[in-house]
Amino acid sequence: MEAKHERRFKTRSPAGTLAIAERVAEILMPTPRLVILRGDLGAGKTTLVKGIVAALGAADPEEVTSPTFTLVHEYEGPKVKVYHLDLYRLETERELATLGLDEMIAEPNALVLVEWGEKFPSVLARATGEIAIENLGGDERLLVIRVR
Ligand code: ADP
Ligand code: MG
Repeated sequence: MEAKHERRFKTRSPAGTLAIAERVAEILMPTPRLVILRGDLGAGKTTLVKGIVAALGAADPEEVTSPTFTLVHEYEGPKVKVYHLDLYRLETERELATLGLDEMIAEPNALVLVEWGEKFPSVLARATGEIAIENLGGDERLLVIRVR
């Protein structure tokens, strides 16, 4: 993705990732925006989403769970509606089409956060942001945020 802004953060614990999410949420404004969350299993993608949803006042972090089987979870905040998708188990563009991604990003207040979105060229093409999380060993993580 061609990025206009890039920011990097290091965190040293899950709580640190939740805390940094407030700044990450600010960087992701304004909506609508589709963000691909990159990183291995266990990198901290879902943990970061918990923090972003909480920062936007859309739910408490413990209410945010991985949409591994449900594919999409929705959290409605006062200003922003967060859609959290996990496409790990999805295999084809045809299955993807049934999720209604276009309708989501057509909503002016939508922040769409997609784990494993990079599997699908059509998601990459629609992304206006990307967060890459790298496990630096132990509980240390590097977050690289790019928006355009
Ligand atoms: P993903 O969605 O990328 O598969 P999760 O957020 O579900 O990852 O899981 C991340 C795991 O790594 C959790 O068990 C979490 O406690 C652990 N962890 C350790 N250090 C961190 C950190 N700095 N940030 C986020 N998660 C961390
Ligand atoms: Mg996850």
